[in-house]
Amino acid sequence: MNVFFFGCRGSTPVSGAEYQRYGTATSCVGVGNGNATGYADAAARGEAPHLVLDAGTGFINLERVLAGKPFCGTVCITHLHWDHTHGLPFLREAYMPGHRVDIRIPGQGDSGDAETVMNRTFAPPHFPVPIGTLGESWSVTGTEPGTVELEGFTVRAEEIPHKGSRTFGYRVSDGSSSLAYLPDHKPLALGPGPAGLGEYHPAALALAEGVDLLVHDSQHTAAEMPALAFLGHSAVEYVVGLGVVAGAKAVALFHHDPHRTDAQIDEIVAGLGDPGVRVITAREGMVLTLPLADEAEAEPVVPTEVGATEAGAPRDAGATRDAGATRDAGETGERSNGAAHRAAQRP
Ligand SMILES: [Zn+2]
Ligand SMILES: [Zn+2]
Repeated sequence: MNVFFFGCRGSTPVSGAEYQRYGTATSCVGVGNGNATGYADAAARGEAPHLVLDAGTGFINLERVLAGKPFCGTVCITHLHWDHTHGLPFLREAYMPGHRVDIRIPGQGDSGDAETVMNRTFAPPHFPVPIGTLGESWSVTGTEPGTVELEGFTVRAEEIPHKGSRTFGYRVSDGSSSLAYLPDHKPLALGPGPAGLGEYHPAALALAEGVDLLVHDSQHTAAEMPALAFLGHSAVEYVVGLGVVAGAKAVALFHHDPHRTDAQIDEIVAGLGDPGVRVITAREGMVLTLPLADEAEAEPVVPTEVGATEAGAPRDAGATRDAGATRDAGETGERSNGAAHRAAQRP
């Protein structure tokens, strides 16, 4: 299973040099069945993902792996907050001839059918093009918790607590590897749990049990929770705790607070000490293959090749290429920091 991190920021996109290594775009993760080592490698192999989890502003980064071909696939949305949906209209490959975009959202009950509810933010006067008219082969479906087969994967959805929007977490399996994705999660809503940071509740455990990678809301730290828990997110210490209790092979800290700089994220990760589970800091541009190679034998963070933007194609704005180059350059630093972090963990 190939996991593509197209956007790792929480709440709102950011800009600025201090955010380049972990990225500026909001939540979007692709799941493919190849073993590409980066965006450009996936584009060259024709291994673009057909299953996408959330469509925040990182959704546009799919163009880097589609190599000019139309997007055909399913987009499983965890919940309808802007940072998980606002990328949908901006991927040109999603309305090229031959496209197919099947959007699945948590059912909205009495609030209305799925497309109508989505268009409360996408139709005029909020946005000029209603979601159902972006392309002829777009669909929007309201769904319920359960397990379905999508794009060659087994996808399980469970309802998890967040704030202000019915929210699902997803578990994706292909028979030989598995991924759990809980980008927005307020476990404190169900009680304090053993560490005062939230319950390790049955839905979270069912999604994360024994997974190769748990991608999880890491918006806050334990020290920040008393002041910020009302926002509906998790602390990094909860994430590693859940990873340990659920027997996850690794956790990926994800949905970084928009105010958090690269340096601050590094500090938080270093401060975890030896958390008892392998910790990866999710970064825009990162492509992983699950199951992960043994940490002692292989660097888990695989860089996107320099030039990925050009190979992956069609962006034409110079500014975009510059941003891509900055990210590529930054990845080397991230890996160094990752190695330093592991060294610190294992003196
Ligand atoms: Zn969010
Ligand atoms: Zn949210």
